[in-house]
Amino acid sequence: MGLSVLTEEENTIRDAIHQLVRDTIAKTSAEFDRTQTFPRVNMELLGKQGYLGMIVDPQWGGGGATYLAQTLVVEAIAAADPATAVIYEVHNSLHIEGIWRYGTDVQKARYLPSLCQGTAIGAFAITEANAGSNAAALTTRAERHGDRYILNGRKMFITSAGEADRYLVFATVDPSLGERGITAFIVEKGSQGLSFGPPEDKMGIRASRTSELILDNVEVPVDQRLGEEGQGYAMALYLLDGGRIGIAAQSIGIMTTALERSLAYARQREQFGEPIGHYQGVQWRLADMATDLHAARMMTYEAARRREEGPSQRPLFAMAKLFASEKAVQHAADAIQIFGGYGYMREYGVERLLRDAKVTEIYEGTSEMMRLVIASRLLKNYDLDNI
Ligand SMILES: Cc1cc2nc3c(=O)[nH]c(=O)nc-3n(C[C@H](O)[C@H](O)[C@H](O)COP(=O)(O)OP(=O)(O)OC[C@H]3O[C@@H](n4cnc5c(N)ncnc54)[C@H](O)[C@@H]3O)c2cc1C
Repeated sequence: MGLSVLTEEENTIRDAIHQLVRDTIAKTSAEFDRTQTFPRVNMELLGKQGYLGMIVDPQWGGGGATYLAQTLVVEAIAAADPATAVIYEVHNSLHIEGIWRYGTDVQKARYLPSLCQGTAIGAFAITEANAGSNAAALTTRAERHGDRYILNGRKMFITSAGEADRYLVFATVDPSLGERGITAFIVEKGSQGLSFGPPEDKMGIRASRTSELILDNVEVPVDQRLGEEGQGYAMALYLLDGGRIGIAAQSIGIMTTALERSLAYARQREQFGEPIGHYQGVQWRLADMATDLHAARMMTYEAARRREEGPSQRPLFAMAKLFASEKAVQHAADAIQIFGGYGYMREYGVERLLRDAKVTEIYEGTSEMMRLVIASRLLKNYDLDNI
């Protein structure tokens, strides 16, 4: 039957990706989490099945689908494997979309087909040790020497660092210009002077690799600069708008699993001679979880539908991420509570929901940053008719 807010094609994609995830990604998810195995195999599969670069036009190897279709794919993957979901999301929303929107035709022809096929993985590197929420304070330097730039600096907490084949790296060509000096570069793995720290030992999304990226006199030809000098910061913010919709979708995937697992358990677990789902204390929790899930979904789908409106709708993208991520963390804890002591045991796979959910409130802009984005625009000129 499908959701009325989706087109027929989007509903078809939604059914198909859920089926694919059930048959494949879901089966290896717990093992990959336990062994911290990078799920390259999932990315290759998604590429073969046409789920990478979905919004890119077919001319460059993409699918020509809507932004909402891609959002549905993040959600479906996250319901089974939030680690693959974030790798997918960074690859598509931050890396591929960057090249597709801002690249020259030569760059698109050179980079997009392999990214859309899944034979190359893309990453996005802006954060530094002293430039997190305030990314504009980055100090990684790009100095021009003739037809190349020399990049020096260190990037922190980079998703897929060491595994990805290409990196969108943000560096300043002139620190005195502040954010107007920030410029984006496509840096290829294997470049001399490019190295990576060891994988971070994370609380959750353990199959995704997060590492430092180190640039030590890395030479980048001018034709690997993305856009013009000084455009990088605006680009990063634009891409992160989409990324936030993706993280909202990742959160919804986690919420869906939290609710499904909780319902199944509430039906079968008996205490005091009744299934625990007969008790109002449990029922109300389930009802609230379902209501939040529906609200988060509608907010996220609306944000995805309006993605093309760009920065003018930045508060909508931030609201979707803020609401969905905070609810995902809450619902993961609710699911553990419904499972009682069993929920606390790794064997039941419910504690993982909380480990995986927590980071959705942090990356691609913390909840506090989302509130700042929303409030500052509300106080300026945001048209309340949008919400
Ligand atoms: C698993 C993981 C993967 C990541 N992947 C990537 C990636 O692929 N690429 C990339 O570039 N980065 C990545 N990041 C970095 C991520 O985006 C940053 O961690 C995030 O933006 C927060 O920055 P920070 O960690 O330096 O925290 P800080 O900015 O130091 O914030 C610390 C706390 O202070 C709060 N705070 C800061 N300023 C304010 C303020 N003005 N008002 C109120 N509160 C404030 C924050 O909300 C937070 O609670 C990743 C991070 C993680 C954990």
